[in-house]
Amino acid sequence: MRSRVGRSEIGGSFNQLARISLVVGGTAAAVSVLRRALKPRTRYAPWEKVPYGEFPHKVLVAGGGFARYMAAKALCDLTEERDDVGVLVISRENYFAFWPMVPGIIGSEVDIGNIAQPLRRPLIEAGASFRRAELKDVDFERKIVVAEGGKEFPYDHLILALGSQPNFFGVPGVKEHSLALGGLADALKIRNRVIERFEQATLEPGELPDPRLTFVVIGGGATGVETAAEIHALVHEALTPDFPNIDMEEVRIFVIEARQEILGELDPALRRVASMELAARGIKVITGVRATKVMADCVKLDNGREIRTENVVWTAGIRPNAKLKDLNLPLTEHDGVIVDEHLRVADRSGVWAIGDSAAIPQGGESLVPPTAQAAVQEGRVAARNVLAAIDEDDGLEKFQYRPLGQLVELGSRFAVNEVMGVRFSGFTAALFWRAVYLSKLESPQNRARVAADWILGLLFRPAATEIRDLV
Ligand SMILES: Cc1cc2nc3c(=O)[nH]c(=O)nc-3n(C[C@H](O)[C@H](O)[C@H](O)COP(=O)(O)OP(=O)(O)OC[C@H]3O[C@@H](n4cnc5c(N)ncnc54)[C@H](O)[C@@H]3O)c2cc1C
Repeated sequence: MRSRVGRSEIGGSFNQLARISLVVGGTAAAVSVLRRALKPRTRYAPWEKVPYGEFPHKVLVAGGGFARYMAAKALCDLTEERDDVGVLVISRENYFAFWPMVPGIIGSEVDIGNIAQPLRRPLIEAGASFRRAELKDVDFERKIVVAEGGKEFPYDHLILALGSQPNFFGVPGVKEHSLALGGLADALKIRNRVIERFEQATLEPGELPDPRLTFVVIGGGATGVETAAEIHALVHEALTPDFPNIDMEEVRIFVIEARQEILGELDPALRRVASMELAARGIKVITGVRATKVMADCVKLDNGREIRTENVVWTAGIRPNAKLKDLNLPLTEHDGVIVDEHLRVADRSGVWAIGDSAAIPQGGESLVPPTAQAAVQEGRVAARNVLAAIDEDDGLEKFQYRPLGQLVELGSRFAVNEVMGVRFSGFTAALFWRAVYLSKLESPQNRARVAADWILGLLFRPAATEIRDLV
């Protein structure tokens, strides 16, 4: 009996052990299959990698954003079976900011680190070389890019993709007294500013309406509207319960737009839906006025009105990277390096320009707009044309921008979208926004982390922590 019981106990334990081993083994196998699926085969093992300088044809891509990423990646894919084309990317940062999700940092929808996609690893795996270096100059005669510290990089073909920076249009005080969205850290600064003002106001109540609790976003394009919606989300979803002695009715958020309507890039019906949604949240939209001066405690408008505020966010325009001015290139200050329809820079042999820093014709007088989707399409065409030029193939491709649509998110539960002529808004549109942009993240790890941020956002109220020494 004892021995039977013992055997059945042993058998039971064994079965349990086998089941646990099966589950653990199965999970490990699934994880490893998944990891292998997520981790693409590298073009070279590290010890096989040919130094960039030894390739017969050297393509240098300057910049680390959407345009650059796609150009370098497409070139590596196209030359996977070839050993004569080397690709080097130099960029000021060693990450690739996923701009469409940057406003989400303000409202704590996503963690800042999760939308900074690594550049080095995917490029090395694709077969390119990478150096974190800032382009300082180009010697077009010798075909050399000079980076910080005088470091020189040779090229046969140079693709310039240095992006854009905020344009203050010479409005007095903007540079000194406003926050602008020019990088990832700027979004964190805006988030910190909002929390800081709440901390100050709770320590010492001030006049009403309180300029410390008044937030003015100048610029009613997609970036401005998304920023205002995220400030609203931060205030009303994260801060409200933590600051019981602040009357949230006293918190004011303004959007100032020079044109007659916000979201000029969208269909008029969607503009109206977005305006109504902002109004329903108490965000005050003032259109048809320009900010003429920004001071430490006030914004002056050209209709004579003044808004007392200590918090101005400037999203009213961008200009091509100022560095381009030093490079002796054909340039317009507002639109960037002038290129032909093949993306070539005139009178500069082997030089191409793409992305926000290039003025790309799209028929008639108009230029391709500075958007991520355009930059990605330009990157692909630039890669194909550079390769055609290397192969002395005359059939260069003309760049033709194919807009796929516009997606604008107003906080996590509402968006206004136009996709291939179909217009929709609301919660479904917000889900669509998220699905599209999640799929556009290049790094599987960042994709998983952003998805986790969003899921956690459904379960927990965001923490109103302000790490003051970070920015
Ligand atoms: C807040 C915000 C939200 C946006 N949302 C959307 C959206 O939803 N959809 C959309 O289509 N577009 C969106 N855009 C626009 C889109 O992000 C840009 O059009 C796109 O990033 C342009 O790509 P790019 O490669 O030209 O420039 P960027 O992506 O800005 O990349 C430029 C790169 O060059 C590097 N660099 C700069 N100077 C140097 C130097 N001297 N040496 C070396 N490297 C240098 C920078 O570090 C950066 O990596 C948004 C923009 C902003 C600001």
